[in-house]
Formats: sequence, structure tokens, C-alpha cells
Amino acid sequence: VEGSQYANYTVTKDEVLQREPQLSADNLQGGGVYLDFVNNDARLVIENIKEADELGGLMASHVKAVGMLHNDAGQVVGLHVKDLLDDTEFDIHAKLVINTTGPWAPWADKFNALDDHEKHAPTLRPTKGVHLVVDGSRLPVPQPTYMDTGLNDGRMFFVVPREGKTYFGTTDTDYTGDYEHPRVEQEDVDYLLKVVNKRFPESHMTIDDIEASWAGLRPLINDNGSSDYNGGGANSGKVSDDSFAALIEVVNAYEDDQATRADVERAISKLETAHAEAGLSPSQVSRGSSLDQATDGLITLSGGKITDYRKMATGALALIRRILVDRFNVDAPAVDSKKLQVSGGHFDPTNVEETMAFYIRIGVDAGLSEKEAQDLANRFGSNTSRVLTYAVDGPAPGLSLKETMSLRYSLNEEMTLTPVDYLLRRTNALLFHAETLAEFKQPVVDEMAQTLGWDDSVKAQQLAALNAAIADSQLAYLKTAPAPVHPE
Ligand SMILES: Cc1cc2nc3c(=O)[nH]c(=O)nc-3n(C[C@H](O)[C@H](O)[C@H](O)COP(=O)(O)OP(=O)(O)OC[C@H]3O[C@@H](n4cnc5c(N)ncnc54)[C@H](O)[C@@H]3O)c2cc1C
Repeated sequence: VEGSQYANYTVTKDEVLQREPQLSADNLQGGGVYLDFVNNDARLVIENIKEADELGGLMASHVKAVGMLHNDAGQVVGLHVKDLLDDTEFDIHAKLVINTTGPWAPWADKFNALDDHEKHAPTLRPTKGVHLVVDGSRLPVPQPTYMDTGLNDGRMFFVVPREGKTYFGTTDTDYTGDYEHPRVEQEDVDYLLKVVNKRFPESHMTIDDIEASWAGLRPLINDNGSSDYNGGGANSGKVSDDSFAALIEVVNAYEDDQATRADVERAISKLETAHAEAGLSPSQVSRGSSLDQATDGLITLSGGKITDYRKMATGALALIRRILVDRFNVDAPAVDSKKLQVSGGHFDPTNVEETMAFYIRIGVDAGLSEKEAQDLANRFGSNTSRVLTYAVDGPAPGLSLKETMSLRYSLNEEMTLTPVDYLLRRTNALLFHAETLAEFKQPVVDEMAQTLGWDDSVKAQQLAALNAAIADSQLAYLKTAPAPVHPE
């Protein structure tokens, strides 16, 4: 915002190096400073789910859609699903079904009862993205920094400090492997190490420095040129300058009666050829989203970015409300997706610092250190006071009071069902506190077993699944030496 403390500005080469002393000065021209946000995606998702639950929705975790239910008229009326924790299957009936399974959205095409050739989901072109985490002392960067890779491959690269660690990435490569288990391969590590060692030559980073990693699939939409319902500039750059210039030339000629309508149509069809995304590199494919309804009524919302999620929800909800009125005569209350406060965010957004200071103070009053209270307040926001009520029975065996409150809250109020849920998707400890796992994974499993009523065999299975997830994240299958452990 021009003129405000958030305005973008540029800095000289020297200023860049003052801010990022480890950065290579080779070919460095200068830099730009702009406002951006680091987001905890797993917490954002869980807080949205908690809010939906508060508002009357019914939530189910570890439940996989495996088929669609249709009525006699061929309309979708629900899903056949499988509980992945005990392999039982059952049906869920609904007026409307919306498929928001990201890169996995085309699964629904397998189950269309009407016409085998009809597509529910747009054609996706998923790309794999990898992030690597090292200890902060191995790559001490004072602030998130975004730069080109220095490899002349047209790609960008970032380093982000977080919770005493630094993570960097990403890769962006077309993906055709096993959709359920995309994983970090040797070539991903080689590429990212090459970039980080080019940009931070003093770091001498090797695979043995990597404490944790994750790989994800981006739900990119092929041929999204005309269906980017979010509009905006996400597709800019996809039409080559040459074909754009050729089109303008023909249109001008047409207006001057120097070209026929057929000439213009030919130019447009040539433009579409240039537009086809098959020829684009993965990083050039649109990050736009699409909202479609198939003839059997299934709605599919796919593509997009986390950044756009409220905008995508606004479009989807408008469509859903319209269908509910038209088909079912139900006037569902409107929700303002732009402004809806999600769970943990129920406070005045212009008063964040004071609010956090309050939650830290009550954490300290409940017996936590300042740092522990701060961790909880940052993680749980306006739910912190609720989290603190779980102090009442004192610490669980082998866990600090803070960890106990966080785990008990999460078990009771965040549908935590497995240790991986807790250590990866509720707390991110698996990614950003790898050095603590050896010490507290067993106490976490013990406490979960007590709350969820697991017998010894379930406990052993859950511990084995956790150990496998830790080994994968630490790239045990690629490393020769075990991950270094940095004391806190
Ligand atoms: C490496 C990487 C970096 C990214 N960086 C950014 C960024 O910087 N900024 C940004 O805005 N976006 C970024 N994105 C994109 C962003 O993560 C995605 O756009 C977003 O996660 C898509 O959300 P979604 O809900 O549509 O799909 P997802 O988040 O993929 O969620 C789909 C869900 O559906 C579930 N599912 C799949 N199949 C089934 C089934 N049959 N039954 C039941 N459930 C099912 C999956 O388990 C999953 O939980 C990045 C993505 C990657 C991979």
C-alpha cells in the first residue's frame, strides 16, 4: 500500500547483503522488499474445519470417498465411503456433493453412472513440489527471502526461517507417479542442494543436513486458459508475444476492411494452439481455479492456491445456494467467506499484539514459561483459554504441561486420531522439531492410547506408522548417515 509502512520498496546490493549476509554476491544487482505472509497450511485447514463444525457441519476424518451414489434420475445423491482406520464402508446421503479433493479430483470420473465419457473434473496437470528443512544454524537467514535459482532455469527459490529451523524450496516438476504417496526423490534433493549451495556457497549443504522434508502435489489445471473463474492475471504470459501481435495485426486489418472474418478466425485458432499448456514448463502452468457442475449434479472445485481459498469458497457457495433454492427450495443462510473468522481467530484483527499478550499472560498464570505460553498462543489463538483448561489433571507421563494441554485439547477438540495427525498435521513437530521426537513420541502414543482406548497391538501399529512417517520425512531411504540431532 503506497505511502504506508507496508509499501514495497527496493534496496541496493549492499543493503541486501546486510540483511542476508550469507547470500552470494555473484551477479547480485539489488533487491525488493514486500509484504508477504508465512502460513501454517495444516493449522489453517484444521481451524476452518473446526469453524465449520461450530456452524453445524458434520466432520469426518480418515474417511475416503470410494464411489458415488446416484438416484433413478441419474443425479448424485451422496457418496459411498470407507473408514480408513477400520476398513468399514458406508454411505453418506446429501442433497449436493462438492468434490474438493485437489490434485486427486479426477477420482470422481471413475464413478460416473451416466456416461463413461463425461468428465466431472477438469484435466489436471499435477506438479510435485518439495521442501527441505535444516537447522537454523546451518542456514542462518534473518528473514524469508525469495530469489531466482541462479541456474538460468526460469525458476524461483526461497529460504524461510521458522521455529529455529530454515526451510527452502521448492521443486516444480510434472508428476505421473503414485498419487497417494508422492515422495522426495534423490533428484529433488540434488536440485535443491545445487541451488542452495549456489546462492549460499558458505553453507556447504549436504543431504545429511536435512532434518525433515515434505513433498506435495499442486492441483494445476491443464487448458485453464478460458475457465479461470477467479479471473485475475494468473494466466498472463501464456499467449506468446508473437501470436498476440499477429492477432492484433489481423484484427486491425479486419477493421480496415483489409482482412476477412475467416482470417480473424484463423488467427484466433492459431492463438489457441500457442495457448495449449502442453508446451509450457510446469512453473508456467496457470495457478487459476475452476468451478464446474457435471450433468449428474456433482460440483467440482479445483486448482487455485491457498491464497485464493476464500475467493474460491465465495464462488462455490454462491453456486451451492443457487442450486439449493432452484432444486430444493431451500434458502440457506449466506456466509461471508471473505470475512468469516475461523476457529482460533475470533478477535479483533487490528489488535493482534495486545490479544496475544493477553493469551500469553493467562498461559503463564496457568503454570507455563513465557516461551511455552507464547508457543501455545501462537498455535491456538483465541482457543488458548480453552486449551489451558486441560491443565487440570496435570502433566501426562513423559510430557511437559504444555505438551499435555496441547495434546489433550487436540485429541478432544481437533479430531486427532493418529500420532501422525498430531505430530505432523496439528503441531508440525515432525517437520520443525525433529530432534524432540525420539523423546516424546512414546509418551504421545501412550496418552493417545489411554484416551482412545487402544490395546497393545493398536499401539504397536500406530507407533510403527509414526516411525515410518518420521523415517520418510528424514529421508532415511536416501541417506547414508542418520539425521544430525541438534540439542535445543
Ligand atoms: C509444494 C507446494 C507449494 C505450494 N505453495 C503455495 C503457496 O506458496 N501459496 C499458495 O497459495 N498455494 C501454494 N500451493 C498450493 C496449495 O497447496 C493448493 O492449491 C491447495 O492445497 C489446494 O487445496 P485443496 O483443498 O483444493 O486441495 P488439497 O489441499 O490437496 O486437499 C485435498 C484433500 O482431499 C483429500 N482427498 C483426496 N481424495 C479423496 C477421496 N477420495 N476421499 C476423501 N478425501 C480425499 C486429500 O486427502 C486432501 O486432504 C502449493 C502446493 C504445493 C504442493
